[in-house]
Amino acid sequence: MSFLFLDHLEPDSLWNLESQKMLASFRSPPETLIGSGEYLLYGDITREWGHWIIEQFINQKYLTGTASQFGIAEIYADVMDKIEKLYDHKLSYDDIKLNSRKISKLVYSQVQLFNQASNMQARRSISLEMKENLLNTFGPKPRCWLTGYEFSEEVIENFISSSGKGTTDLVLPRYIDQYLPIGRKARDITIEVDHLYPYSLGGKDELDNYRLVCGWSNAVKSNYITAYSGSSGHLNQNEYYPRSYYYWALRSIGLKRKCEVKGCTNTIENSQLTVCSSWGEDMLITPASMKVVCKEHSITRHDRYIKR
Ligand SMILES: [Zn+2]
Repeated sequence: MSFLFLDHLEPDSLWNLESQKMLASFRSPPETLIGSGEYLLYGDITREWGHWIIEQFINQKYLTGTASQFGIAEIYADVMDKIEKLYDHKLSYDDIKLNSRKISKLVYSQVQLFNQASNMQARRSISLEMKENLLNTFGPKPRCWLTGYEFSEEVIENFISSSGKGTTDLVLPRYIDQYLPIGRKARDITIEVDHLYPYSLGGKDELDNYRLVCGWSNAVKSNYITAYSGSSGHLNQNEYYPRSYYYWALRSIGLKRKCEVKGCTNTIENSQLTVCSSWGEDMLITPASMKVVCKEHSITRHDRYIKR
């Protein structure tokens, strides 16, 4: 735990190379700090590294012309030339070929994504049939895929009809959970079709990448993909906590999908989930200390649910 007390965490050490080297020598935080958030802290950093490793193989020439100028064969040859840099030992020729084939596919997709970013194709519009499919895929009652928030009849009706009826007549909840403040405005409780893996980052514009989520979750999730995206954001005017807190909550709930209280069988398919700190009911949440709980088990700190 000693690194917490180092001067190196002081703000004025941010651009100091020696301080940074010192911090880097703490390869992994102690177990007590990681707590139940191990899967978020380690899993998501591996995701970030994975992206960077693939991007290392992108030659700038792939990005300057049109995407079609560089086919996978050309990328494959370049990858083969560099692949051994990833290993601390010599690879057999067969391994070079095999790994290069796999990596060049990933590099190729990434190049296409970069080249398409400037001329994004219009997203597919969601047909009525697809909407009904989506409504039926999730448990007995349609709920937000990321929080378990149950959609009301009128919200479902609005979603299906798309009559442009608007959201002004939706009944908002009286009490709002500060850790998951869904329902402060009409958009929060509406049904939106989310690209689970963000479209702007290469997620498919297809049914298996679609999920129904509440408007609040969709706005918070945006195109974040790991707990490190947008970490330590600022407090927004209209929220109780910095936006990153809400994203951490969504990432945690969406992954675990069930109440973590021992013996409780509530899941995201039959109840609305929320988070609390495993350190105590009035403690702030972090990716390390966060615990997923159902509404019944969400600790009823007297001021947690507040009047809208
Ligand atoms: Zn529970």
